[in-house]
Amino acid sequence: MPQLSERVISITGTDGDGWEIFNLAREMKINGAEIIELTIGEHDDTTHSLILDAMHKSAREGNTGYASVPGTKSLRQEVANRVQTRTGIHTTANNVIITPGGQAGLFATHVALANQGDTGLIIDPFYATYPTTLRSAGLSPRMVKTMPEDNFIPSVSELTKNAKNAKTLLINSPNNPTGTVYDKSNLFEISKVAIENDLWVISDEVYDTQVWVGEHISIRSVANMENRTAVIGSMSKSHAMTGSRLGWVVAPEQVIEKLSDLACNTNYGVPGFIQDAGLYALTQMPNIEKTVAEPFSRRREIAQKIIKDYPDIKMHPSLGGMYLMLDIRETGLNGIEFSKALLEAKNIAVMPGESFGESSAGHIRVAMTISDDKFEYATHSICSFASNFTTSTN
Ligand code: PMP
Repeated sequence: MPQLSERVISITGTDGDGWEIFNLAREMKINGAEIIELTIGEHDDTTHSLILDAMHKSAREGNTGYASVPGTKSLRQEVANRVQTRTGIHTTANNVIITPGGQAGLFATHVALANQGDTGLIIDPFYATYPTTLRSAGLSPRMVKTMPEDNFIPSVSELTKNAKNAKTLLINSPNNPTGTVYDKSNLFEISKVAIENDLWVISDEVYDTQVWVGEHISIRSVANMENRTAVIGSMSKSHAMTGSRLGWVVAPEQVIEKLSDLACNTNYGVPGFIQDAGLYALTQMPNIEKTVAEPFSRRREIAQKIIKDYPDIKMHPSLGGMYLMLDIRETGLNGIEFSKALLEAKNIAVMPGESFGESSAGHIRVAMTISDDKFEYATHSICSFASNFTTSTN
């Protein structure tokens, strides 16, 4: 067989892909074990039946051919309205391209905004695919470290130190995996560094409807940022539509034109019946985002109540998103050792903090994606497992 390209060979790098515990749990499941999976960001509820009805109706009406590549005019316009209403920044359909999920938007914006070999900054901890997405797009990722003690908010000094010769900065608020939500002053500081170093900011806001404390603020609305920001949006998390692959990028018109060229020559956009279903959900279902978000808010409160009784395990504020970041350093184990031991002893699968970068070593990420009673049971089990371990190692 001839050689594969350097690009695909180097996508995953040498440091594993962080999914080892997840894969192990799936293997145990196949072999008959009953596993409580708190690993991936997949809702325990499926897409609402009214959205599926809209999808079906559109397809039955003949909308099964190639759809317009940057997206249907009506959906682009609705996304523009939504963004303008929520941010106050003038936004038109020409600032929007519809993409096959946020993931495709992340890849495409990096291709469009950086050259082969350019450095792209990522805030550590990061969503596990970020380094590999950047490598797939031809960039060289550089991590900006954060501290658990600062709630994983990047400091100006760390950002500035790393910004030299970089081309892009990828941020994510509300954050996966930490639940951190950047406030106005955090975003102002990030924007200052971006402007001083002439960086593009790619702002992944796919969890924008899941904020438990405070509010979601888009960096595109910070002064002088509109023309150097591309916002990634998606209906995966907000509308429990992960399988529909429906997202968007909001950016300056010139960027959208080039993203459209790129889409024309790569994925050819999103099926029309999926776009119609998305439009239906955005225009006809005013309460759906709240309904989809509510279980995570409730489960976060359940966990808070349980965890406060265990001094050896700490929960980061988790101000938004579907996950909890738990500090288990008091056990003397790192996140990988803890997750492996937990899986073996209790049949509970969580993600080690190390899967998301060095800054979250000694932590575990818990997805709040199972029913309340199971979640309560699992949280108790994780906490008592951690405290037994602490007692036996001290
Ligand atoms: N960004 C973040 C931070 C995510 O957690 C995810 C999915 N887990 C995505 C982007 C991609 O989402 P999608 O492609 O389904 O829109």
